[in-house]
Amino acid sequence: MNLTGELSEVKNYINGKFVPITIGRNGQSSMDVISPIDGSVISTLPLSTYNDVDKAVQAAKNAFTNWSAMTLKDRVQIFFRYRTLLEKHMDELTKLVQLENGKTYGEAKAEVEKSMELCEFAVSMPQIVVNEVQEVSKGVECRIERKPLGVVASITPFNFPNMVPHWTMPNALVLGNTMVMKPSEVVPLSTVRMAELLKEAGLPDGVFNLVNGGKEVVEAICDHPDIKAVSFVGSTKVAKIVYKRATSTLKRCVALGGAKNHLLVFPDANPEMTASNVVASMSGCAGQRCMAASVMVGVDNIQHIIDRMVEDAKSLIPGENLGSVISAAAKERIEDYIAEAEKDGAKILLDGRNTTVEGKEGGFYVGATIIDYVTTDMSVAREEIFGPVISIIRAKDLDEAIEIENGSNYGNAAAVFTQSGGLAKQVMERASAGMIGVNIGVPVPREPFSFGGWNESKFGVGDITGRSSIEFWTQNKKTTTKWNPEAQTNWMS
Ligand code: NAD
Repeated sequence: MNLTGELSEVKNYINGKFVPITIGRNGQSSMDVISPIDGSVISTLPLSTYNDVDKAVQAAKNAFTNWSAMTLKDRVQIFFRYRTLLEKHMDELTKLVQLENGKTYGEAKAEVEKSMELCEFAVSMPQIVVNEVQEVSKGVECRIERKPLGVVASITPFNFPNMVPHWTMPNALVLGNTMVMKPSEVVPLSTVRMAELLKEAGLPDGVFNLVNGGKEVVEAICDHPDIKAVSFVGSTKVAKIVYKRATSTLKRCVALGGAKNHLLVFPDANPEMTASNVVASMSGCAGQRCMAASVMVGVDNIQHIIDRMVEDAKSLIPGENLGSVISAAAKERIEDYIAEAEKDGAKILLDGRNTTVEGKEGGFYVGATIIDYVTTDMSVAREEIFGPVISIIRAKDLDEAIEIENGSNYGNAAAVFTQSGGLAKQVMERASAGMIGVNIGVPVPREPFSFGGWNESKFGVGDITGRSSIEFWTQNKKTTTKWNPEAQTNWMS
């Protein structure tokens, strides 16, 4: 793709305009944006500072007065148009995700389609967010109305450049907030197009703003006194930092972190369906999904399923139906994990190390990797690898399998593969994870069901999407009225 206009040099988007950063400090003020497909430099990104965040917050604060005064129904009209624009530009947006993130065309398209679904939920808010009113005493009414918070912020990771920004932006804005978003510095291009399309859909200036950069921008967001709520999606290490820092300045915060998802496979599982689901879960988006299968707990004798998995995984061709990982550092980290497991005595059934793609030698590719006879003390059993790698741990029975799953610090997703309803029910009840799949390898709840994990996969109350997000992006105003003097009642009567 030949990048032109705002994409060839990313700028901040503040008050409806693309603006350069305020160079407020010495040292580096920009960085290269690299396509993981072939390692080429595709754009440059400004490294903003507190001053830039402050400008965006002021714009969002100014825009809040008029935006929040509009009716919910009027705000929603803009998102009907925006959703249509996503559909109209589907191919272009898909290729942009591919270019900056490295996933396959099909995976990138599915991401943009999911963004459309998220907008569909946002435009349904007038049917869902209905205020409450009751005559609580003769002539006295109590009402509860949902009100926006003000200026809110959203910080996003690299692995879903289009979808994760849509987890937060449509709902927060439709509910009357204005927003400052900080996309991942590694994949800033999709959000630039998002800003342009929002403007085309009629979003007033200042309602949505983008500030690009790294850690310094995140810290400024956490510290800024005029930001009321912070939503974060990324690794657990940073989720903890952000949650602590944002709440220490008394902001509302929900911070989604990393994952180590366990799939429990029983011998009675349908072999073909299970093998293809497990392989698709561990390798989709090159394993860079917080919902990816990372550990398979094989209960009793499931060798026939493992054999099928290896055959299925052999059909994954890097650069064709298996995308790249995000960076040279990610490739090295993933390969180090595989090497360590091998050194510790695990058996590598399929080895994706040292993969190159002809014609894209500068790209960052790891082939599908299956590691068997992993034990719970190994780092590949405990830590998030975030690559197309699955570790198989053998367990003797359900209790041992559950104990292994429960032993993880994380708790995003867990799944069970079996044809027994009783076994499935036990896993549904006893797995310590926020999202559970039965014969489903990537159990992402679709709208209007909400998305969010447990344990160290999420900090804060509530989930990030669906109905749960309505609570997060609003506050209740409780009003008690008495317009009937004849009622002669003290309201407490
Ligand atoms: P990351 O934590 O490195 O970065 C996320 C955001 O935090 C980026 O915008 C980045 O600029 C910023 N950041 C990075 N280091 C920081 C620091 N020290 N202080 C303040 N801000 C900092 O995550 P990533 O590598 O972009 O994304 C991959 C991670 O995100 C994986 O761990 C994955 O599991 C997780 N993830 C989780 C979910 C979920 O729903 N739980 C969804 C998607 C991704």
